[in-house]
Amino acid sequence: MAKLSVKDLDVNGKLVLLRVDFNVPLAGNQVADDARITASLPTIRHLIEHGARVVMCAHLGRPKGKPDARYSLKPVAEHLERLLDKNVGFSPETVGATAQEMAARLAPGGLLMVENLRFQPGEEANDAAFARQLSELGEVYVNDAFGADHRAHASTVGVTKFFTQAAAGFLLQKELDYLGRVLVAKDHPFVVILGGAKISDKLPLIAHLAKQADRLLIGGGMAYTFLKAQGQGIGDSLVQEDFLDAAKKLLAESRPGQFVLPVDHVLEHGEVVRDIPAGGKAMDIGPESRANFAGHIATAKILFWNGPMGVFEKPPLDAGTLAVARAVAMCAGVTVAGGGDSVAALRAAGVEDKLSHVSTGGGASLEFLSGDVLPGVAALTDR
Ligand code: ADP
Ligand code: MG
Repeated sequence: MAKLSVKDLDVNGKLVLLRVDFNVPLAGNQVADDARITASLPTIRHLIEHGARVVMCAHLGRPKGKPDARYSLKPVAEHLERLLDKNVGFSPETVGATAQEMAARLAPGGLLMVENLRFQPGEEANDAAFARQLSELGEVYVNDAFGADHRAHASTVGVTKFFTQAAAGFLLQKELDYLGRVLVAKDHPFVVILGGAKISDKLPLIAHLAKQADRLLIGGGMAYTFLKAQGQGIGDSLVQEDFLDAAKKLLAESRPGQFVLPVDHVLEHGEVVRDIPAGGKAMDIGPESRANFAGHIATAKILFWNGPMGVFEKPPLDAGTLAVARAVAMCAGVTVAGGGDSVAALRAAGVEDKLSHVSTGGGASLEFLSGDVLPGVAALTDR
């Protein structure tokens, strides 16, 4: 790792400003899924055990630069309190006098969370004055918010200028380690599985991964733009006409057998077909495609999966996605998944813990694997 790690810091008795990604779904006043919170516990525990006075900042939802009670981080702070069985203070102000006084009163090992960063317009604008106010909450800075690091915001980028030490937390390091192994795949076969609705969202990702992947298994809505580009009939299946040329180019530049497309399909009302009839809408990959995909998945030394194979929100149209989830879980190689919907599918199949790494960052993981430098990572202190 080329960046300073939280392990390298002497934090004893120091105020540590910790940027976390606690952008979790809420159900009323309760955290509905705490995966992103538990993912940062190793960093939080390390800081507590080493006598740091920890001030956590995070964003939740899209409150658009002003306070909005629906997006308060208070329930998140309370949830963290239960997870750690330890008091977590909460400042109803993100920055300013109240937050600073509460931070100053922290004892070694103490924890404080400040209110949603995005209640302040300066956060997303990466405003220097707001970044400076935020920096006044800590003596050193630690970033563990992988899922927010593709955005150059005040809490990920601007704030780092005010610290001599800006370090990566353990979750951020783990994300970069596993996604780095996918980005520069040294082991083969390297198998990539891509699905989801639109090819447009994932074009830079496909182009970048196609340089190294031995197999690109394509399912989901985006498969039909590829199939149409090959001249196949796709009925009324999802297609992005504007991207037919891009799909043709990717196929033309690919190595023989590199792209693996579905050979059979499940239509809207459950019929399984090889040829999609006029007016038919393909909503999932068929059984033969699932078996083909599983065969390639089993050979992988390293594997990356993003995006569902069908309209998995509507069972039984989730069968293709669940089959892929189970095949990925059985693969003996290094297995990495990213993207909200693929993670939901892994959980639905009950196999989330069978993968080497499930990324906490949707957009961030895809940008990283498209070859982009994440601004929040670039801004950290070099080792
Ligand atoms: P992820 O969040 O995993 O990156 P996306 O957001 O790109 O994935 O795509 C997920 C959406 O794609 C889901 O809502 C799913 O219903 C839709 N989808 C998958 N396959 C199809 C299909 N064949 N036709 C229409 N929509 C599809
Ligand atoms: Mg999605």
